[in-house]
Amino acid sequence: MKNNNEIPTPYYLCEEELLEKNLMLLNYVQRESGAKIILALKGFAMHSTFPLVKKYLQGCTASGLHEALLAREEFNKEVHTYSPAFKDEEIAQIAKISDHIVFNSPSQLLRFKDKVKEINPNIHLSLRINPEVSSSPVDMYNPCGIYSRLGTTLKNFDERALEYIDGLNFHALCEQGADELDEVLTAFEKNFSSYFKNLKYINFGGGHHITKKGYDVEKLIKLIKDFREKYDVEVYLEPGEAVGWETGTLVSSVLDIVHNSMDIAILDTSAEAHMPDTLAMPYRADVRDSGEAGEKKYTYRLAGNTCLAGDIMGDYSFDEPLKVGDRVIFEDQIHYTFVKNTTFNGIKLPSLALKKKDGTIKIIKDFGYEDYKGRLS
Ligand SMILES: *Cc1c(COP(=O)(O)O)cnc(C)c1O
Repeated sequence: MKNNNEIPTPYYLCEEELLEKNLMLLNYVQRESGAKIILALKGFAMHSTFPLVKKYLQGCTASGLHEALLAREEFNKEVHTYSPAFKDEEIAQIAKISDHIVFNSPSQLLRFKDKVKEINPNIHLSLRINPEVSSSPVDMYNPCGIYSRLGTTLKNFDERALEYIDGLNFHALCEQGADELDEVLTAFEKNFSSYFKNLKYINFGGGHHITKKGYDVEKLIKLIKDFREKYDVEVYLEPGEAVGWETGTLVSSVLDIVHNSMDIAILDTSAEAHMPDTLAMPYRADVRDSGEAGEKKYTYRLAGNTCLAGDIMGDYSFDEPLKVGDRVIFEDQIHYTFVKNTTFNGIKLPSLALKKKDGTIKIIKDFGYEDYKGRLS
């Protein structure tokens, strides 16, 4: 519909073709391994793409009531809902719209099991385990780090749970490969396999970087197949990042260039509000047609349009000088970005746009003042 340069910035541009490429690889894993793969909404929840996503994936994993509602309304296949702790006021509605509920602790399971079963007799209950093994590179994103509240350790496992659950979940990885999964599985089996006897499924969580170049897909398939055969259970995977990985960009414009011992380009986007993991993880996002500082002829610090001093994407170099109005395109900004956005400083939320397979671009959603005001009072 529109030429890229006619779309007002900032906007996220998700490309259907790239998304489908990821989905086809995930589908290959499903077909060859027999696992079921569901989408973790926490990482990617652009629901205008769900008609495409649901052609390949079996459902969604939700982190609580709101994500479960989105899963039911917009995806409407399997809904698995997990929360570190469920609330009395929400559990009834969650039970009504979920197919699986995953409890974080035996105490939550024992507290809510009767109520949940009464509301939805067909519901499956599971307990999240903390296998206490992880090689997650960053503490902030390590679900099995020291003092983690996420999942039940062997020491805290309560055998009374076994009467009510038909699955176990673990989620121990973050952007990791099949070798790391292998390590986690070894520890998980060693400590918990004696409890598998009457279980129907084991959920291996997310954090599998399946769609990243170089991921050992065949090893993953073998691990799943061996596990399924050994224990006669179904296996679920619930990736978020691997679904949205490298499926699109955040497009911004240069608003001004200022100088303070170096050249600084102020963009109409924000690291803090629109690319939060670049500060939280932290990591350096790739910028199209750029190099490291000093690598190309013209180096700039790229910075956000908020009053936070540290709202900085990093230092990048370009072949030509940047000028006001130029577009700066951040690569791979579709997962863990708009699901986490804020309106800090009242900055405008980037629009959501979709590039269809026929090459046309459609702005799905535009945001404005009302989105800022609506969350305040
Ligand atoms: C975050 C999360 C996922 C998805 O993780 P990715 O790293 O995006 O694949 C899956 N399951 C649980 C329980 C999670 O917390």
